[in-house]
Amino acid sequence: MTTGHGAAATLTIDLGAVAANWRLLRDLSRPAECAAVVKADGYGLGLEQVARAVRAAGCRRFFVARAEEGLALREALGGDGAIYVLDGPGRPADAPAFEAAGLIPVLNSPEDIAAWAADSGADRPRRGILAVDTGMNRLGLSPPEMRDLTSRSGALDGLEIDFVMSHLACGEERDHPVNGLQRALFDELRAPLAGVAASLANSAGIFLGPDYHYALTRPGAAIYGISAATGAPRRMREVVRLKAPILQIRTVDRDSTVGYGATCRVPRGARLATVAAGYADGYLRALGNRGHGYVGATRVPVVGRVSMDLVTFDISDTPEGGVKPGDHVDLICGRHTIDDLAAEAGTIGYEILTAMGRRYRRRYENGDSSGT
Ligand SMILES: *Cc1c(COP(=O)(O)O)cnc(C)c1O
Repeated sequence: MTTGHGAAATLTIDLGAVAANWRLLRDLSRPAECAAVVKADGYGLGLEQVARAVRAAGCRRFFVARAEEGLALREALGGDGAIYVLDGPGRPADAPAFEAAGLIPVLNSPEDIAAWAADSGADRPRRGILAVDTGMNRLGLSPPEMRDLTSRSGALDGLEIDFVMSHLACGEERDHPVNGLQRALFDELRAPLAGVAASLANSAGIFLGPDYHYALTRPGAAIYGISAATGAPRRMREVVRLKAPILQIRTVDRDSTVGYGATCRVPRGARLATVAAGYADGYLRALGNRGHGYVGATRVPVVGRVSMDLVTFDISDTPEGGVKPGDHVDLICGRHTIDDLAAEAGTIGYEILTAMGRRYRRRYENGDSSGT
């Protein structure tokens, strides 16, 4: 039994790949404009870093979920760039903070519209995005509310509507009938707002083709290199690599079990490497006895349950004596992508990304690659 030093796992985030992915999405979206969705701390990869990378690539419109994220983003970006808050304008008491930081709310209900319009003068209309629900039943005006709104003249007085938007429920399935139904309903509901630009597509919506692009696309996932559509050609560059140091290697030479609950039996013995990552780091517990990593080119399985701080791999297939404590197991790499790991955990890349833990040592690379 040998013991290694206790370094943290390293999460490497390639900002050059972030910028390249955004530029590809921008090109696919043309002539529509391409925004960037950077909610949830830039899908877990660092709000400030990813926002700056896509801004350097030419992005001028950003979406966050919460007002707090918008305030942090404004700090990071300085004055330029439109920041839209998907959750809405919040309480009336929040309006001054929105205005001071130049945050633009997505208006999700008649109440949002009334509140946001309330004390804006005709000389300085307040900007907003008007959201209509066409099939998610989540946020946005319902179709009857939208019809009521557009039938009343002056219903949007005091407001400057940048876009009317909706969100796709099934965009990752190219042939899902709901896509066409949502698009038709969106067109019907926004028809009375002839002069207002429209926005429908998330990452998956961009891959559905120009019919879904309208004036503004809103990709998130694809910017970060994860698959947003089943069967979509894998054109996005990998953004994330994750490697965890081996803390200890042990050779068990008799029938025994590994980890909590003794869920894994190694009947003929095994060489086991325990690494510094666990479910507290977002290495999901669902990966117990199901996940894989790589030691060099050798695929190594997770054995036993994932613990809070540790996970154990069976490295019996690596050359004897070729791996030592302090070496690394690649948890996410070119051979084993976020999407592969997500499949093993029974989830989607979005959850793997946004669960990335605070204890990882983060390394950003290629942060200065702007260009067009
Ligand atoms: C999160 C979100 C997006 C981005 O979706 P991706 O699938 O990550 O591209 C776009 N629009 C809305 C309304 C969202 O909530």
